[in-house]
Amino acid sequence: MIRIDVVTGFPRLVEGPLQESMLKRAREQGLAEIVVHDLRDATSDKHRTIDDTPFGGGAGMVLKPEPVFTCVERLQAERTYDEVIYLSADGEQLTQPLANALSLRRNLLLLCGHYKGIDERIRERLVTREISIGDYVLTGGELPALVVIDAVVRLIPGVLHDGTSALNDSFQDPLLDAPQYTRPAVFRDMAVPDVLLSGNHADIERWREEQRLRRTKQRRPDLLNEQ
Ligand code: SAM
Repeated sequence: MIRIDVVTGFPRLVEGPLQESMLKRAREQGLAEIVVHDLRDATSDKHRTIDDTPFGGGAGMVLKPEPVFTCVERLQAERTYDEVIYLSADGEQLTQPLANALSLRRNLLLLCGHYKGIDERIRERLVTREISIGDYVLTGGELPALVVIDAVVRLIPGVLHDGTSALNDSFQDPLLDAPQYTRPAVFRDMAVPDVLLSGNHADIERWREEQRLRRTKQRRPDLLNEQ
């Protein structure tokens, strides 16, 4: 079972999505243990302060080192983490191969920044990996942490109903996924391609592969050039 600890000053931002759909199922079935830790529980002042103004001036607040060190070191005293990951706009980009690799780990700790970011000494001393979910800036690391969790947990055997379906998704190989249809066979004036109703599995497989190639050429030719 994979265990993922999330350290955040805004635990409610993370907890809601963990209680829905596949992530909920994975937790209930004991395939993933995901524990959210409130950074404010690791503070020692009566206002439970987690941030302060930046040295040198400038706009925005910075997450203080003390609560983060206290919280992370408490967790590290309980188990060894394969990675302490800081979600960061300037980190390495989350890709399918990275999600695949993380899904094979046993213990991950995800640290969410907020405001202007976190004190650099946390990155220097505690963090072993920094991951970005894309070249844009969000208000905090909570949504990126959920993106990482979702991408990782759905790969764990038993989480998806059909164990093979994660392997057929876009980005698992250089081809994007084929179009998907469900009932009804005709909706308004739009009919499902005949081949999908034919029952001929070889023809369906061939059609899907052609569609994957067509779609990749149209939408992401760069994926084919990476080969
Ligand atoms: N000053 C930072 C910069 O320019 O890179 C941005 C800080 S951002 C407003 C606050 C927090 O959101 C960051 O500490 C990080 O944890 C998270 N964050 C924002 N964008 C992100 C992204 N694209 N990927 C991962 N985490 C992100």
